[in-house]
Amino acid sequence: MTVTVGIATEGGGIATPPSGGGSRPVELAELMSTVPLGMAIIDRELRFVEVSDAMAAMHGVSREAHLGQPMVEVLRAEPSAADVVRRVRRVLETGVALEGVEIIHRESGAHGERTRVYRASYHPVRRDGAIVAACIYVEDMTERRRVEAQRDAGAARERSVREQALRETQEAVRARDEFLSVAAHELRTPLTSLRLHLQLLLRQVGGSNQEPPAELAPRARVLDRQLSRLVGLVNTLLDVSRLAAGRLSLEPRELDLAQMVRQMAEAFSEEFTRAGSTLSLHVDGPLLGEWDSLRLEQVLVNLLSNAVKYGGGQPVEVSLASEGPTAVLAVKDQGIGISEDGMARLFGKFERAVSERHYGGLGLGLYITRQIVEAMGGSITVRSAQGKGSTFILRLPTRPPVPSKAAVGAR
Ligand code: ADP
Repeated sequence: MTVTVGIATEGGGIATPPSGGGSRPVELAELMSTVPLGMAIIDRELRFVEVSDAMAAMHGVSREAHLGQPMVEVLRAEPSAADVVRRVRRVLETGVALEGVEIIHRESGAHGERTRVYRASYHPVRRDGAIVAACIYVEDMTERRRVEAQRDAGAARERSVREQALRETQEAVRARDEFLSVAAHELRTPLTSLRLHLQLLLRQVGGSNQEPPAELAPRARVLDRQLSRLVGLVNTLLDVSRLAAGRLSLEPRELDLAQMVRQMAEAFSEEFTRAGSTLSLHVDGPLLGEWDSLRLEQVLVNLLSNAVKYGGGQPVEVSLASEGPTAVLAVKDQGIGISEDGMARLFGKFERAVSERHYGGLGLGLYITRQIVEAMGGSITVRSAQGKGSTFILRLPTRPPVPSKAAVGAR
C-alpha cells in the first residue's frame, strides 16, 4: 500500500515544495524517515504498513524489517508487546482512540538497569467510514520525566530544608522562652530575700527611729534603687514568659485613672529631675473606669521611663482626656524620636530602635505594654520622627471587654 500525504496550507489546499522536489506531494515514507516521533501504521491483519525511523530505533529493528511483518513477530523481544497488540486490536475493533498510555520499560544492560518511559496514543484510520488501519504515536518521555523528577526532588529537598529550619527556629524560641521563665523565677527568690535583708539591716543600724543613719542614707538609696531596677527587670522577664504561655491575667476594678496618672507623675518626679527634664500634666478631674490597676501602672511606668530615657532631657507632657467611653492618654517628649523602620518594629518582642551602646534595655517594655493594652480592649500608637520627639497615645475603653477577666496570650 502506498500512502501519500499532503501538507495543509492556510488556504486549505495542498502545498507543493517550492523547488528541487518538483510538484510531487510528500510521500509517507519520506515523512516517516524524518519525523522525530515514534509512528506506526498497522493494518487490520496486525501487520506493519509503515513505521517511522524513530519507532524502528525504539524497537531496535530496521524500518524495512517492519514493513509487511506481523506485529507479534517484530515486537517479539519487546516486554510490552502483548499490551501493544491488545490495544491496537481494540482500536481496530471499536474505532475508539486511546490517548496518553504510559509504557515503562526496564532494560538491564552492562551499566545496570535503565528505565525508559514512553507515552503512546492509538488512533483508528478510517476510509469511507470503515476502519482500515490503526496509527500508533509514541513519544519518548524518559528525559522529560528525569528532568521533572530532578525538579520535584529539588523542590522536596528545599521544602524539607525550610521545614527543618522552621522547626529549629521554633525549638530555639521555645528554649529561649523556657530559659527566660526559669531564669526569672530563679532570680526572683534571692532578690526578694536580698531586699528584705537590706531593709532589716538598715532598720537595725538605724536603732530606735528605724531610719538608716545619715551617713548611710545616700548609699542605702542607691542600693534600694538598683535593687528595684533588678526586681523590675526580673518581673519584665516573668511577664514575657507568662505572655508566651498565655498566663497573664487581668483583674479589672473601678479606679480613677486621673489620680493614678498624678501619682505616677509624682513617683517619677525625681527621675525626671535627674534627667534634667520637666514633666507637665494636663489632667482634669476624675476619670473613672474599670481596669487592672497593677497592669495599668505597669503601662504608665513603661511609657514614663521611656520618656525619661529617650526624652533627651527635654520637657515631657502627659495629657489625659475622655472621649465618650474611651480614656485617651498621651505621653509626649521632645527627645531622640524614632525612625520609620523603628516605629514599625518597636511593639515587638526584643525590638529596639536604638543602639545598645547608648541606651540599655531589653526591648520588652513596649511589647508587654501593647499586650496589656490590647487585652484591655484598647490600643497604643506612636507618632514620631527621628530627632523630633515622640508621642505615645493610649486609647483605653473605660469598661473591660467581655469576658471581663481577660487572659493575655502571646503573639
Ligand atoms: P527598651 O526601652 O528596653 O529598649 P521598649 O520596648 O520600652 O524597650 O522600647 C522599644 C524601643 O522603642 C526602644 O529601644 C527605643 O528604640 C524605642 N522607644 C521607646 N520609647 C521611645 C521614646 N519615647 N522615644 C524614642 N524611642 C523610643
